[in-house]
Amino acid sequence: KSPTVPNVDGSVNNTEEDDEEDGVELAANSLLNKLIRQSLVESSHRVEVLQKDPSSPLYSVKTFEELRLKEELLKGIYAMGFNRPSKIQEMALPMMLAHPPQNLIAQSQSGTGKTAAFVLAMLSRVNALELFPQCLCLAPTYELALQTGRVVERMGKFCVDVQVMYAVRGNRIARGTDVTKQIIIGTPGTVLDWCFKQKLIDLTKIRVFVLDEADVMIDTQGFSDQSIRIQRALPSKCQMLLFSATFEDSVWQFAERIIPDPNVIKLRKEELTLNNIRQYYVLCRSRKDKYQALCNIYGGITVGQAIIFCQTRQNAKWLTVEMMQDGHQVSLLSGELTVDQRASVIQRFRDGKEKVLITTNVCARGIDVKQVTIVVNFDLPVNQAEEPDYETYLHRIGRTGRFGKKGLAFNMVEVDKLPLLMRIQDHFNSNIKQLDPEDMDEIE
Ligand code: ADP
Repeated sequence: KSPTVPNVDGSVNNTEEDDEEDGVELAANSLLNKLIRQSLVESSHRVEVLQKDPSSPLYSVKTFEELRLKEELLKGIYAMGFNRPSKIQEMALPMMLAHPPQNLIAQSQSGTGKTAAFVLAMLSRVNALELFPQCLCLAPTYELALQTGRVVERMGKFCVDVQVMYAVRGNRIARGTDVTKQIIIGTPGTVLDWCFKQKLIDLTKIRVFVLDEADVMIDTQGFSDQSIRIQRALPSKCQMLLFSATFEDSVWQFAERIIPDPNVIKLRKEELTLNNIRQYYVLCRSRKDKYQALCNIYGGITVGQAIIFCQTRQNAKWLTVEMMQDGHQVSLLSGELTVDQRASVIQRFRDGKEKVLITTNVCARGIDVKQVTIVVNFDLPVNQAEEPDYETYLHRIGRTGRFGKKGLAFNMVEVDKLPLLMRIQDHFNSNIKQLDPEDMDEIE
């Protein structure tokens, strides 16, 4: 049985059936998010700030110019298409770029601009003329380290002579090599090895230390201790920054151990609501019947893009084959795919190359379905005890109040599952209307 794994957004999957994919690893989920995200996630919340010195004035910036960055860095930012700082960057950047440097713990959901912010901080503090490691960034996996490195390369495009090196397993450097690259991004174990065993990096010369994805980090055996050992060897004037997408107590305790005298910045996550979703259900006798109802819906209304959720991998496969045989263009997002393959399925769907995406619970966590107007629960989400899984229901069809478009949700319900649906309806205090699949005119 798969263990209960918290998701990037802090929710917990406890809904897998025996046939369901094992909990997708946090790191894989986080990577997937990065691979598919091309723009900022919007937020209607205010950034909460806790200053280490409450009497010092609180600065925020509305433009990148106000930060008085190096010319080549500003050029890099604009070349990435950034016009103004994101919500979290407005507050975080002045703190991160202050003189003397300030330490920071920042929490906001993925996609809100944290990576861009600390990459900017590293690039602005690096001295290209000095040929030794000056900035050190810890990430939970090789792939995540690479993603951050890509951002450094893009943003630092005009910062000639600034270079990145990856301290990750498999990147073997001969002992005694003179490491001349200024920015090191790596996983804790390898970084520790490079610093203490191989003596490739002199930690006393590090100016900026970044611990990214702290929530993923503490979930990985040994990474917290290794990170702390690295941090202990840094000079006291080194700037220390920690980022996390979630903030459970365990992350917070770790953050406080590793970041001395921090400022704290938080941006709360948007709540999902069902308010602007019209919900329907169709009563069915069998799986075939559900499929027929699905086809009727599909034929009856002008469908933009749809995501169809199945409870098991097996059902998802079956449905994919059925739909394909009937000539529909569908794709299947399955837990058997690698993260890269999953990212490419999602990307194709986002580009509109496929109109229907069929998936199971676990795979679809963290996918932004904003553009999708129709969500179908081919199976109602239930937990292991066959109780309704409200959390998953909300995740599948809910939208964030202010930014989400209106949507339609259809539940295919076998007669014996009707009580489950009624409980879901009561739980959310919402109205799920019954639909006659032969008569689509009922859909308003
Ligand atoms: P996080 O680290 O919080 O997940 P990122 O820094 O990766 O967020 O940013 C999410 C997405 O938004 C990325 O595609 C990034 O290029 C983009 N982005 C970041 N900052 C800005 C900005 N100020 N303006 C426009 N886009 C931005």
